Amino acid sequence: MTLHTAEVVAIGDELIHGAMLDTNSRWLASELESAGLSLQRITVVGDDLAQLSDAILQACRRASVVVSTGGLGPTLDDRTREAGAQIAGGPCWFDEVSWLRIQDYLRGRKRPVPESNRRQAEFPTGAVVLANPVGTAPGFLLSAHRAHWFALPGVPREMQRMVQDHVLPWVRTLPSLQPSVQQLLRVIGPSEAMLGERIAAFMHGGRNPAVGVTVGNGMITIRITGTAKTVALAQQACEATAKELRPLLATWLLYEGAEELHALVVQRLIARQVTLALAESCTGGLLAGRFTEVAGVSEVFLGGFVCYANAAKVRDLAVEPALLAMHGAVSEPVAAAMATGAAQRTGARLAIAITGVAGPGGGTPDKPVGTVSFGLSLDGVVQTWTLRMPDLGRSFIRERSVLEALAAILRSVQA
Ligand code: AMP
Ligand code: MG
Repeated sequence: MTLHTAEVVAIGDELIHGAMLDTNSRWLASELESAGLSLQRITVVGDDLAQLSDAILQACRRASVVVSTGGLGPTLDDRTREAGAQIAGGPCWFDEVSWLRIQDYLRGRKRPVPESNRRQAEFPTGAVVLANPVGTAPGFLLSAHRAHWFALPGVPREMQRMVQDHVLPWVRTLPSLQPSVQQLLRVIGPSEAMLGERIAAFMHGGRNPAVGVTVGNGMITIRITGTAKTVALAQQACEATAKELRPLLATWLLYEGAEELHALVVQRLIARQVTLALAESCTGGLLAGRFTEVAGVSEVFLGGFVCYANAAKVRDLAVEPALLAMHGAVSEPVAAAMATGAAQRTGARLAIAITGVAGPGGGTPDKPVGTVSFGLSLDGVVQTWTLRMPDLGRSFIRERSVLEALAAILRSVQA
């Protein structure tokens, strides 16, 4: 069976100098693989003509489909057209139709029509013009070596639209495509190494579905990628692998799917009609911020308290000063009192409290940086626990605390 290989080339000085993150490649990789191409390589290259011609040419020698983004602007520093002309071995030609479209586009937005935009209507010999309905830069399709090269603009919105309009419809006409599907298992608890040992038998190269892990702020995502003749067969293969993995993960498995944890938690709270309040010390409102990213959260989220100083914990959450004096602000009794206070003050069914040492200062031998206590009150029943996370920096500790709180809420509303 023929495998249709693809490469992505992201073009722009801003990308190689670190001024801008190459998000186009990430989006393209996922779209092209889902469509059934096998992505082999992503190259990031600047606007230098020799460098970018070489990058495109090499990609066209290796892959059957090459998609580039960037370098199609009206200014002289955008040189993808010239690279195309070099590769095609002839001068550019001027496309009157594209020039009229560009003028219409600009006039339609009451913008002037600078002469420099004429450059965007120039195309390499042999190129097919790809219209851009949402911007001034048309793209082009050029055959080079064994490849079809789609040159698309860099603006993400325009690039994405042109992939939908031009690239994917063309890809779908290819014979014997191998669509791939991803299934995600979200794990919290073990270290990456511990998890790796547990599922080692699944992680050898060449396996289909492939199993890989990625880590972020304490959450590990197991990515099962299955490739087959049809999407349905690929899904079946992924599910078969997931079925074998689940018993090995046991209580480490928190949830499944591409959805973000905070969005899923909101969904569950709404489904079970559980109202929520927060009492945050070391996370300073980070958890409240995460919740309010989700549209519709107002159905369940009543409010949050950012109580950083001891005095604020006493004043806003009715934490007993004696409790603070006896156990310290980072302690389970104080976390319990904070959760109870937040539930009582708001009338929420579920309240969660976070109090910890985020560092870099403030640690003691007893409570080193990374010690975080949690309190969770559900219908008046309070549970507490303490995490001692490694000191991987203030930002890690705060994010890991948010993750822990979200995981605890999810577990308590699905129990
Ligand atoms: P260009 O087509 O090279 O004129 O790119 C236009 C704009 O699109 C750039 O100024 C960036 O803001 C954005 N852009 C270009 N390439 C990328 C990329 N790979 N990822 C995200 N944004 C990009
Ligand atoms: Mg550019």
